[in-house]
Amino acid sequence: EMPLQQHQVVVLASPGAGHLIPLVELARRLAVDHGLAVTVVTLTGMSNPATDAAVLSSLPASVATAVLPAVSLDDLPPDVGFGTLMFELVRRSLPHLRALMEGGGGGPATALVCDFFGTAALPVAAELGVKGFVFFPNSFSLISIMRHIAQLHGDGVCSEYRDLPDPLRLPGGPALRHADLPDGFRDRTDPVYAYLVEEARRYGGADGFLVNSFEELETAMAVTFRRDAEDGAFPPVLPVGPFVRSNSGSESDDSACLEWMDRQPENSVVYVSFGTGGALSVEQTAELAAGLEASGHGFLWVVRMPSLDGNPYALGNAAIPGDKDDPLAWLPEGFLERTSGRGLAVAAWAPQVRVLAHPATAAFVSHCGWNSALESVAAGVPMITWPLYAEQRMNAAILTEVAGVALRPATRGGGGGGLVAREEIAAAVREIVEGEKGSAVRRLARELREAAARAWSPEGSSRRALAEVVGKWKASLVDGNGTVV
Ligand code: UDP
Repeated sequence: EMPLQQHQVVVLASPGAGHLIPLVELARRLAVDHGLAVTVVTLTGMSNPATDAAVLSSLPASVATAVLPAVSLDDLPPDVGFGTLMFELVRRSLPHLRALMEGGGGGPATALVCDFFGTAALPVAAELGVKGFVFFPNSFSLISIMRHIAQLHGDGVCSEYRDLPDPLRLPGGPALRHADLPDGFRDRTDPVYAYLVEEARRYGGADGFLVNSFEELETAMAVTFRRDAEDGAFPPVLPVGPFVRSNSGSESDDSACLEWMDRQPENSVVYVSFGTGGALSVEQTAELAAGLEASGHGFLWVVRMPSLDGNPYALGNAAIPGDKDDPLAWLPEGFLERTSGRGLAVAAWAPQVRVLAHPATAAFVSHCGWNSALESVAAGVPMITWPLYAEQRMNAAILTEVAGVALRPATRGGGGGGLVAREEIAAAVREIVEGEKGSAVRRLARELREAAARAWSPEGSSRRALAEVVGKWKASLVDGNGTVV
C-alpha cells in the first residue's frame, strides 16, 4: 500500500471492469488536470484481478492504487443475486477501507468518491470528516429513480416495500413504463430491492454527486437537480460528462476492421453491437441477420456467442481473442456470403469508439449501455435502441424520448422479452439511414454532438462543474487544517 498523501482523494470502485473503467477515467482527470493526489481502491473477490490490473495500468504513475483484503461472503445463500453480492461485498469491506483511510501517513483524505454500489462508504467518510461524493457513470435519470424510491419508503426500516407507479414520471425526465424500469426496480420482492432502498436512503447524506451526463443531454433533469440543490432539497448533482475514452479495449484485431470501414462509402454502414455482456437468442440472431440483409444497407456487426438459456446477460461471453467458440458459426447459412462486400461480421469485439467516429458509419444499433450511448452521442451517430438488461431500457427511453437521437424498433409481442422481427429491423435501419422520421433524428444527433463537444470545451459546463467541485475539495482541506496547501 502506498502511503496516503496530502489532499488525497480516495476513489472506491465497485467490482467489475465496467465500474472500474469510468472511475479510472475520473481519477486520471483529477490527477492530471487538477493536480490532486488520488488513490484508486478496488475490492477483492468479485472481479478478475488480471482484468482490474489491466484497467489500472492505464493510470498515470502519479495515481496510487490499493486493493482491500478479501472478506467472506460464504454465509450468503447460494442463489443470491449479483447486485446483492456487490452491495454486501462493499459493506463487509468497510473496516478495511476505514483502516486504509486512517492509516495514511500523510494526513487525512479530502474526499472519498464511490460509485453506485459503494454508497455504504459514505457514512465512513462522514465519520472521518471527509467529503463523501458519488460518481454515477450513468444518467441523471437513474439518480432520480433512486431518489424516488427513497421518498416512497421514507427513512425508517420497513419490511413491506411498495411498487413504483406505472408509468413512473421522473421530474424533468422520461415517463418510464414499468417494463422500462431498470432490473431490480421492477419487482419489490426481489431481494436486491431492499438494498436499493437502503442505498437510496443514504443519498441525502452525500456531499454531492458527479454524473456522466451533460446539461444538453438531460436538460430538464439538470435544471430540476440544480434547483433542488439550491433549495437544499438534495445534494448537488454535477454533470461532468461525457467521458469518452479514445481507446477501447484490446486493439489486436482493430486494423482489419477499420481498413474495411475505410473502403465503405461515407454514411453507409450500420454498426451493430450489444456491449460487453449482451447476448441474443439463436432465433433473434437469425432474425437480426435476416433484417440486416433485407435492409440493403451496409453493416458492421459485432457478433457474440448466442444465449442458449434465454438470459440476455452473459458476461462469460467476454471478448477472448482466439476463443475456441466461434460466434460467427451461429449465423444463418449463407448469410456472410450473400452480404459479402457490404457487410462485415466480427467475432466478439470491435474498436467501437473509432468505428463510431468513422465517416462511413451512418447509425448504431445499440444495447444502450450508457457508455455506448455517450460514445454515439459524442460522435453524432443516431441510434436504433435494442436494450437487453440492467438500466438499458431506461437509457433507451432517454435517447428516444428526451434526447430524440434514437429510434425504437417495434417488438413482436411487445415489452422487454419480445422478438424483434426481421421486417421491423429492416424498416428501422432504412428509417434511421434514409427515412424522413429518421432525418429529424439524424439532425438532433448532429446537434447533440456539438453540445457534447461544448461541454468539455475550455469554458464548457462539464469542465467547469468538475473544476468547481475540485475547488471545494481543496478549500475544505485549507479550512479543515487551517493551513494553506
Ligand atoms: N466496447 C468496444 N467494443 C465492443 C463492445 C464494447 O469497444 O465490441 C466498449 C464500448 O466502446 C464501451 C464499453 O465497451 O465503452 C461498453 O460499455 P457500455 O456501458 O456501453 O455497455 P456494457 O458493456 O457495460 O453493457
